[in-house]
Amino acid sequence: MTGPVLTIESLNVHYGTGAGAAHALRDVDLTLRRGEVLGLAGESGSGKSTLAYAVTRLLAPPGVITGGEVHYHPRGGAPALDLLAMTPAELRAFRWQELSIVFQGAMNSLNPVHTVHSQLDDVLKAHRPGTARAARRARAAELLTLVGISADRLGSHPHQLSGGMRQRVMIAMALALEPEVVIMDEPTTALDVVMQRQILRQLVRLRRELSFSVIFITHDVSLLVEFSDRIAIMYGGRIVEEAGAAEIYRDPKHPYSEGLLRSFPALRGERRELAGIPGAPPHLAAMPPGCAFHVRCGKALAPCGERVPELGSPVGEGARRVACWLHAEAAV
Ligand code: ADP
Ligand code: MG
Repeated sequence: MTGPVLTIESLNVHYGTGAGAAHALRDVDLTLRRGEVLGLAGESGSGKSTLAYAVTRLLAPPGVITGGEVHYHPRGGAPALDLLAMTPAELRAFRWQELSIVFQGAMNSLNPVHTVHSQLDDVLKAHRPGTARAARRARAAELLTLVGISADRLGSHPHQLSGGMRQRVMIAMALALEPEVVIMDEPTTALDVVMQRQILRQLVRLRRELSFSVIFITHDVSLLVEFSDRIAIMYGGRIVEEAGAAEIYRDPKHPYSEGLLRSFPALRGERRELAGIPGAPPHLAAMPPGCAFHVRCGKALAPCGERVPELGSPVGEGARRVACWLHAEAAV
């Protein structure tokens, strides 16, 4: 039994204020357990990045957190920290150190005029000011090796590295201060499939060695099936299903999860048709009533267009949660 390291409760985010505000995150409940890789999937626009930005307090205007709580649970049973109440100074100390983030296209945020070493060193210098120059250099070399890049590339400039290498440098940077939680928002989307899987394999191995927890966000569920422990599926700003990766792959309960899983070719075994899902994701300004998916769902029942099905609470380790009227008994 592993305890939580990050708990998100009834988190709500709006873009804008007043009557025109768009409700982007709707009562999101999610728990990241210590040491696990939690995959978060959903079509573009489902609110995945909004969740990542809100949780890390990096949400920029017009985004506003309009409700809910986010707590970080330090190792060793120290009292939980309220992320939404942290001051900017507290957040600066907290980020990188306890929780770090790798965003989509992060590899392009490396500074083109500085070497890989100088950029890794900036993070180490800022957070470990007492560390001697030589020790910091050794640590930078160690970090590069950790992500599968030869230490002799420390002197390279970003343009001298491939996209995959630059993305791995960003991952090295995120791991530099040995944070407990790493949030990755589509960190490999710009890379080819082989490179994506190579980076993920490395990440999962590092997670075992360094024992951090990961929230891995992608629209590609097939990657999650292979590399995560649990998967949460988002639609229209809500979590609609959450279960163990193998369970959800074998037996998705929510018709949206099923559609999403069938939209990608199977990793092993026979290649299935790309079934896809008819229709398009909803616009925030015109979210269908009830279950937002009901207008695209081939199995919709009477209550689906009227009342929002609850996700419910998971019972026991690895338990499944599903917000769907087809499985309402299971959710109660
Ligand atoms: P995902 O990461 O799953 O693709 P996002 O979190 O980026 O989804 O977006 C969720 C919803 O919030 C989308 O409908 C998007 O249009 C809206 N949204 C995102 N950023 C902004 C913004 N700065 N202003 C207004 N709406 C936004
Ligand atoms: Mg996104």
